[in-house]
Amino acid sequence: MAIPPRPARPASWYRASVAVELGDCPPLAGERRADVCVIGGGITGCSAALHLAERGYSVVLLEAGEIGHGASGRSGGHILPGLGTDIATVEKALGRVRAREIWEMSREAVRLTAARVERHAIPCELAWGYLHAAVTPRQVRELEAFRERMARDYDDTALSLLEGDALRQHVVSDAYPAALFDAEGGHLHPLNYTLGLARAARRAGAAIHEHSAAVELRRGEPATVVTARGRVVADSVVHGTNAYPTGLMPELSGRIMRVANYMIATAPLSEAQAARVLPQNDALSDANFVLDYYRLSADRRLIFGGEVSYDGREPRHLIARMDAKIARLFPVLEGVPIVYRWGGDVAITLDRAPDIGRLGPNIYYAQGYSGHGMALAGLAGQLLAEAIAGQRERFDAFAAMPHRRFPGGRLLRTPLLVLATRYYQLRDLL
Ligand SMILES: Cc1cc2nc3c(=O)[nH]c(=O)nc-3n(C[C@H](O)[C@H](O)[C@H](O)COP(=O)(O)OP(=O)(O)OC[C@H]3O[C@@H](n4cnc5c(N)ncnc54)[C@H](O)[C@@H]3O)c2cc1C
Repeated sequence: MAIPPRPARPASWYRASVAVELGDCPPLAGERRADVCVIGGGITGCSAALHLAERGYSVVLLEAGEIGHGASGRSGGHILPGLGTDIATVEKALGRVRAREIWEMSREAVRLTAARVERHAIPCELAWGYLHAAVTPRQVRELEAFRERMARDYDDTALSLLEGDALRQHVVSDAYPAALFDAEGGHLHPLNYTLGLARAARRAGAAIHEHSAAVELRRGEPATVVTARGRVVADSVVHGTNAYPTGLMPELSGRIMRVANYMIATAPLSEAQAARVLPQNDALSDANFVLDYYRLSADRRLIFGGEVSYDGREPRHLIARMDAKIARLFPVLEGVPIVYRWGGDVAITLDRAPDIGRLGPNIYYAQGYSGHGMALAGLAGQLLAEAIAGQRERFDAFAAMPHRRFPGGRLLRTPLLVLATRYYQLRDLL
């Protein structure tokens, strides 16, 4: 089946503020032998390549565009513990003990991110503090129940419920009756972070080839990954292309859906304006099903995301819609221009839990972080690398999660997803 290409998208503010020099990564030409071939130069692929190269494996990473071309270089940059799904879903599928292991690993994912930023001196503006903000009274009750459950069943006491003045010290808006504050969450410049991981992988010995799409995967031991002008013969393969359908693993088809998400960056705010938006420099997501999320950049731009599309085409009147949302949340920002807009593709699974596993003896994959991959993809890359090195316990914990295809077959999947989303959007109004 031919996969329709995404329409060309405007360059992001992240591309305009790159601070990491990666150096030349020429397209693959000719045949290479490697222990591991990694397909995809986002956080999943770069993290796997880095961890494997640090362990002494020879690694060739193939990226279809440029490093960070996918979601990793376009995202909101919120670094969050937890998963895209409710932990109750994991408990139901795997039991409390496994769910606790997975929750702990999601917290570790955030620490791993911070440790790599520090160790590899990645200039990506990492800052701490995250608010999950309720918009309705029902959401306040749900957030409080979640906080209690985490403290009681998961020994996670990092969360606190903020209301009234305590909340206004973090976000100066009348839109939110309450928010969960998570000191373990934070935010960073996602493209510089991804480029920093790639630079570290390269320094550890990995070969990186940009503009080298994998077009064929010949399974076997070793496996062969073919590009337009070359091939990599490798003992193991890591497939980390997330929302980008490669057609290389038909067994997984229908297990993720691609949803485009859109972001804007304003002109820099004055110090006084920034202090009347997010005075503690936290990141914030609201608790709606189709959520709005934002943070300030180091040069005090509001980096605001929300708005989805299912065919990859930019929603009509995107700038006007974002402008109206920002004005409603922060009247103080009226007149601050939006100067960048961009979009990217998120891969979601049916139950929003990440899909991590192995096909045959030596083909590993991780995908479907469901909008929650900035920290998790880094961990997933490391788990795939650990599994290749023979340490499978932590990989197995995630791989045990059952995954089903989206219903509706090829033709009806997207309309059904749109319908389900509309239902949850209506529910968010109650
Ligand atoms: C607008 C937006 C906002 C987001 N905000 C957040 C957030 O705030 N917090 C959060 O936790 N998550 C967020 N996410 C999700 C997060 O960015 C992703 O979960 C994460 O980056 C996935 O990383 P990845 O490496 O698996 O995939 P990607 O970063 O998408 O990388 C896949 C790479 O594979 C390459 N590729 C595709 N086909 C081939 C091929 N045939 N051969 C070689 N390479 C190929 C692509 O070019 C791409 O570079 C957001 C996503 C978007 C789009």
